[in-house]
Amino acid sequence: MTASWHPEWCAGGHRCGLGEHRAEPITLDAPGLGRVVLTRVRSSTGREHAEVRLTVTLDRTETVARQQLLALTRDLDTVLTRALYR
Ligand SMILES: [Zn+2]
Repeated sequence: MTASWHPEWCAGGHRCGLGEHRAEPITLDAPGLGRVVLTRVRSSTGREHAEVRLTVTLDRTETVARQQLLALTRDLDTVLTRALYR
């Protein structure tokens, strides 16, 4: 498999490099609250994965921000477990 062969979902252009292919990212925006950017990627080994970048606005109060981070960690664990065991 080479970088010159692009899967149907590949966005091409500058997104492909070093044998990696990347789809056009899907962005979910919640203005003032956060954002999720999800991208399908095929590595140079042929293995595929979903790359997820999550940005969450934290409360200005440290205690609340820590509670948010703890809840976020638990929720992400649930998301990862669900994705792994379908
Ligand atoms: Zn490509």
